[in-house]
Amino acid sequence: MSKNKYDISKYKEKHDVKSSVEPTGKKDTSKSQGRFSFQKHDAQNLHYDFRLELDGVLKSWSIPKGPSTDTRDKRLALRTEDHPLDYIHFEGIIPEGNYGAGTVLLWDKGTYDNMSKKDDEQSLKEAFSDGHFSIYLHGEKIKGGYAMTRINDKDEQWLLVKMDDEEADARRKPVNTETKSVKSGKDLSEME
Ligand code: MN
Repeated sequence: MSKNKYDISKYKEKHDVKSSVEPTGKKDTSKSQGRFSFQKHDAQNLHYDFRLELDGVLKSWSIPKGPSTDTRDKRLALRTEDHPLDYIHFEGIIPEGNYGAGTVLLWDKGTYDNMSKKDDEQSLKEAFSDGHFSIYLHGEKIKGGYAMTRINDKDEQWLLVKMDDEEADARRKPVNTETKSVKSGKDLSEME
């Protein structure tokens, strides 16, 4: 059979097939589901607000200890109200007397891919409703696969866990060592 433009041998001529099939976990950007961010929020209690663009809103969780790159850590993530999309890159000071009064620092931002079974948005919405989904984050600080699992339906308590991939790193501790905003380059004390 003669070669045609769909023949795999044509593909092999143009691509380094060996490296492209390595299980890096990386996804091509056509599968990107949307954006995410982590906002470090110095309110009554310091926490990290995790925002995930899904279904036209920002699904949101408050994570007291922030995300970890260590696969052994299970980070408690308390579901909070959906936020409007334009909140995703917010950084600034919420005045006293307002809900969430305190300083919000845009700690990380990027896009994510759905890793749950199928790669379409509908399957991620279903996985989210079912209380377990996995996503691949392309942040400036936080990268790689993460699993989110709801452990308590009533209070919407979830756990954020780093998946074991090339971005896992037990020693990095980015929450402690990478404290500056990806927007302003300032840390909390410089903002306040
Ligand atoms: Mn908050």
